[in-house]
Amino acid sequence: MVRTYYHWIDGSQTEAAGDLIDRNGPADGRLLARYAAGTAADVDRAVATARAAFESGVWSNMPASERAGVLNAWADLLAKDVERLAVIEAEEVGKPILQARGEVNWSIELLRYAAALAWQLSGQAFTHLGPEKLGLVTREPRGVIGMIVPWNFPIVTLFQKLPFALAAGCAAVVKPSELTSGTALETAKLASAAGVPDGIINIVTGTGPVVGEALATHAGVDMLSFTGSTAVGKRIARNAADGIKRVALELGGKSANIVFADADLDKAIEGVITGFILNQGEECCAGSRLLVEESIAESFTARLVERLKSVRLGLPLDEASDIGALIHEGHLERVLGFIETGRKEGAVCVAGGARATAGGLDKGFFVEPTIFAGVTPDMTIYRQEIFGPVLSVIPFRTVDEAVSIANDTHYGLANGLWTSNVDKALGVSRRLRSGTVYVNTYLETAPQMPFGGFKESGYGRENGLDGLHEYTEVKSTFMRLAV
Ligand code: NAD
Repeated sequence: MVRTYYHWIDGSQTEAAGDLIDRNGPADGRLLARYAAGTAADVDRAVATARAAFESGVWSNMPASERAGVLNAWADLLAKDVERLAVIEAEEVGKPILQARGEVNWSIELLRYAAALAWQLSGQAFTHLGPEKLGLVTREPRGVIGMIVPWNFPIVTLFQKLPFALAAGCAAVVKPSELTSGTALETAKLASAAGVPDGIINIVTGTGPVVGEALATHAGVDMLSFTGSTAVGKRIARNAADGIKRVALELGGKSANIVFADADLDKAIEGVITGFILNQGEECCAGSRLLVEESIAESFTARLVERLKSVRLGLPLDEASDIGALIHEGHLERVLGFIETGRKEGAVCVAGGARATAGGLDKGFFVEPTIFAGVTPDMTIYRQEIFGPVLSVIPFRTVDEAVSIANDTHYGLANGLWTSNVDKALGVSRRLRSGTVYVNTYLETAPQMPFGGFKESGYGRENGLDGLHEYTEVKSTFMRLAV
């Protein structure tokens, strides 16, 4: 059955006047869903609705304990619907169902954590400013938050924002990716059923240049929280400058996974494989550069190539799939283009390197997990975010050299390192210029741990207490008391 959705505004589906966007599954071409192609007028309506709901105080003035209760009720409804949401996510993105299920559960965990954080909203009182003086420092909700999210982790990237903004008392207008809008709309409906007041969550579907641009530049939006490419992030930051609009940016990456010869190499093999194939490599933190100590570089690469033989490419709903389809044909061409460039520039392809069609994959956009040896810093595949399952292997000799190669990128989202030497682990992680460092693990996370980038990977933090504070303004109130 083809799902047809309209915008979600003021607590109900609002039929769009314009066209619909077809979403065909990237794994088999089947028509999955139709979404409203929103316009600037739809964004105006959603922002006005969010503004009215926010200013009514129905949500922002609700005691935090009650807000937390509503958010937990929402989590309970989502928990009953994990399978349905996971199927939508897997089919629209093309990712394995096993992974999609995990992501829905992780989103619910983030929601419950944000609900608990609502209880923690507090300020400071300065009581020693003088006998007749009192200073109060309070945190207030920022207001109407515009949220723009990408297609690679549709529900997770939304739930790194929305529960935290709601916990702080804000209202939201969300623009999901036009390729993967299903779970945003389904979860908004469940929020309403759980008691989130009408107008606090609004979803406008459509393209980036129309709906995204209208939302990012809207004067009625107090803050814009964006997850996506660095190129669009830069445009959003430039546009925001005029109105001094608050902006939080979660952008791209070119992370390094550093393997020292003293590491537990069995675990490192698994971490490196997961790091570059998870979500078909369409992962902002993908460990797409493997820095490996020269003494083991050859044998470690050979083991990776061997291990890849048991990685299963497959259809999204196949429980046995490890890796699914890329998001669309244009992206498949782009990833294959990077592979071609890697070869032309002199890197040696030691695994994969082509489109995969065998075993019923011919209607989808599948690419073999690919490993390049002999990669040097002047090569395109070393520098650019490929956003596909492509690994570049770069040998190093010393700790200093490893750190210098890892930091030799304009990105700074994440890095990983593998060693059994605790001094090396702590010393190297301090020197890595990234918002996250994984030690003897890769792509691990916890709701309490803030997530975000250094350098051109963005600014602002999601998750953790910092993730809540992003959605608040700090106010100082000075009082003179008649004593
Ligand atoms: P993208 O930048 O093309 O699109 C992201 C979102 O922005 C989409 O909803 C899109 O419709 C919208 N958009 C496009 N043009 C716009 C414009 N002019 N104004 C406003 N909105 C616009 O990114 P993508 O291809 O969807 O996602 C892949 C990128 O996202 C990668 O670079 C990846 O690293 C990054 N990403 C980062 C994180 C993180 O947390 N740092 C997480 C996931 C993805």
